[in-house]
This record gives sequence, structure tokens and C-alpha cells, in this order.
Amino acid sequence: MSQRVRFAPSPTGRLHVGNAYIALANWLYAHRHGGWFLLRLDDTDRERSTAAFAEGIEADLRWLGLLWDEKAHQSARLDRYDEAADRLRRSGRLYPCYESPEELSLKRKLQLQRGEPPVYDRAALKLSEADRAGLEAAGQRPHWRFKLSGGTSSWTDLARGEQRVDEASQSDPVLIRTDGSYLYTFTSVVDDIDFAVTAVIRGADHVTNSGTQIELFKALDAMVPDFGHLPLLSDVAGGGLSKRIGSLSLAELREQGIEALALASYLAKIGAGAHEPRTSLAELAAEFDLAAFHGGSPRFDASELRHLNGRLLHLLSYSDVADRLQPGVDEALWLAVRGNIQRLAEVEEWRQICREAIEPRIEDRDLCASAAKILPPEPWDDTTWHGWIASLKGAVGKSGRALFHPLRLALTGRENGPELKLLLPLIGRARAAARLQGLKG
Ligand code: GLU
Repeated sequence: MSQRVRFAPSPTGRLHVGNAYIALANWLYAHRHGGWFLLRLDDTDRERSTAAFAEGIEADLRWLGLLWDEKAHQSARLDRYDEAADRLRRSGRLYPCYESPEELSLKRKLQLQRGEPPVYDRAALKLSEADRAGLEAAGQRPHWRFKLSGGTSSWTDLARGEQRVDEASQSDPVLIRTDGSYLYTFTSVVDDIDFAVTAVIRGADHVTNSGTQIELFKALDAMVPDFGHLPLLSDVAGGGLSKRIGSLSLAELREQGIEALALASYLAKIGAGAHEPRTSLAELAAEFDLAAFHGGSPRFDASELRHLNGRLLHLLSYSDVADRLQPGVDEALWLAVRGNIQRLAEVEEWRQICREAIEPRIEDRDLCASAAKILPPEPWDDTTWHGWIASLKGAVGKSGRALFHPLRLALTGRENGPELKLLLPLIGRARAAARLQGLKG
């Protein structure tokens, strides 16, 4: 069956790695199952939601390549929430309550003192019509609670397998606040019904919510979608990842030179197998398996991600990166250096070494002078190096590091780098000759 999924961030901040993991899981699941992906902005909190954060989230998703088929704003759907709330009122599942926050907290305290679970006692259900009218006349406005069945919600989770939530141990959840605003537990279900979502994939912090929401789907006579709850990521020390860890925002990772596909390759299998770089989201989708995410909190390790970033760059073709390379980096230069960089921006250093004058470093003056003397005439290609080195070995009687290290230092000014047989034709004869003689070139 083709699947319809949604990613539902609140635009109260930019995306961090934990959000990207959930967004990616939804997108890959949809694409694995010929599906459809909704970006839903949960922006009913008017104080904290901003258009700038919403735009930032969209930019982050675009950067990751997670394009959406449709976009919805909860703030534009209030009429639908009103309709669904009326329906629940009519069926007796949504009831008005007048306790103040202070009264509720006192009730909880007393319950705990008596050793009882702090579950809402449903006192408001006992109010008569006249009691309510009296409270309203005295200027009291209600908040509204959903009457749970008192049974058990159970489902086969796409990631965690069989799940059960005992609704009798939960308070009837508030769906509408005193000021008339709706809570996420409710709006999310109405949206999932209206957009015909078939799989709700989100973090394990929502498992209890899902129990309640399953009852809401049923109370609204709707089909209950599948649920998949992914284990929450932790940092390398085992602590939770949070939005506050700025260094883990996608914007920051992008600035650090992390490739979107490296992050996607990393998150698509985090805690669920070995990390292999993949050069397209389609490949990741073909391999994606939600059932592999049934373990404990996977650790997000930035150093592993950086390593994967390097391995990904080694696999990318020139056309994969051409639009992000500086002018002057052609295919030959890219192919020569891609195996030796961790971040794309490092290509620039090698462009300068190949295409601009640099100060050589002379370690063995005689060797370099001999090498300069027998440089073959151009045109050069990647076979030039072998012929030249073979003659040089004979001329100077050196080999191994004693031969190669001084040549690398003179030709590139660097201790390490891409294969010299690939760099030599890019540097060209005039620069090579100058550098081997200790001249800037
Ligand atoms: N806005 C909710 C959140 O960020 C969405 C949760 C869900 O996917 O249902 O937690």
C-alpha cells in the first residue's frame, strides 16, 4: 500500500539533528513505499512560532533534499478543529472543566499524599447544568477534556513491535485551553484524518500520546493510522540531544562543511547498522527499514559523521558537486583531490596549489635540482610521473620516502595530499620546474 506520512515541526526554532532524523525517517519511508510526504507546521502557539523559523525549517529540509508534496499550517485550520471539537462534544467525549491550575495542583498533591496516582478525578463530569450555568455567569471559562475510555490502547508499532498504553492510568487530556486555543494532541489527530495520513512516524517521546490519539481517531470515527516511534538520539556521553545544543543545528553542520547526503547516510542507519555513505536519497530509501530502529537510544557522534563526510566526498562525481565548486576547479582537479578531503571547501587549497604560485619547501636541494633537470617535455598526463620517477631513481640512487617526501614538499608545499601522479599534470611543467629549484611558482 502506498503510504502517506507527515513531518510536523513547530516553527519555534531551526531544525536540529534530532528533528532531521525524524523528517528523514518519514521521507525515506514514504519513498520506500511509493508514498507522499506532508510538511505540517505546528504553529498554533502564536507567541513562539515565527514565519522566519518556518522559512528556516523549509530551507533546512530543502538542503537535506527532503522535499514535500504538500505543506499545511495548523494556524490556517482552526475551523476544522472547531468542527471536530463540536462533534466530540455532541458524542459526550469532550467535557468542560472549571478547575483553576491551583486547584488541580492541590488535588494532585493530596492524591500523592494518599499514595494514589495523580490522575484527574473527573469531578467536572458531576457538575449539573445549573452548576455550569452558575460558573459561567460568574465569569468562569472552561477548559475542555477528552473522556478516555479507561481501556487499553494497543498497536503494532512499525519500529517497536507490540505496544500497550493503559488509558485508565492517564488523566483525561485537556484538548482546549481556557482561552479557546487547541492543544497539539487534538489538532494533530484532526490533521492526520483530513490528510489521510497512513503512518505517523515520530520520536519515542510520543508513545503515551499515541495511546490517547488512537482513542481520538476512534472517537472521530476515523481509520487509525500505523505508528512508528523511533528511539531518541543521545549525545556521545549518553545525554539527550536538545534544541539548545546549537552546534547540532543543521545550519551549523552545513557551515562546518557536512554534506547533506553524509548526514542522511548517517541518520538513516543510526543505531541500526554500519554507516555506509550513499550518493542519493533514493538509494537510502531502497534500503530503509523502520523495524531496524527497535533498540535503545542511538548515539550521535559528530566525529563519526565527519569521517563519513570524507568517505562520501570520495564517491561523488564531478557532476554531483560541480555547481558548488569554485571557478577553476575542473573535473581532473576534482578527481585528483576528492580522495583527500574531509570537506568540500578544502578543494580550494588544492586549486591554489595546482593553479597559483606557491612557496615550495626544499628538503633535499640536490635531489630536487636533479629532478628539475630531467623533467620530461609536455604534454603531461597521469603516466608522466612514472617515467620521470624511474629515470630519477636511476640518477640519484634513492627510493621510498627519501625520494618521494622531498618531491612532495617541493611540488606542493605540503606533507600530505593526493597522489602526485595526478597532481603533476595539473601543476604543469613551468611551475614544477620553478618549485623544484626552490623558486616561487
Ligand atoms: N509538533 C509535534 C512535535 O514537534 C509533532 C509531533 C508529531 O509528529 O505528531 O513534537
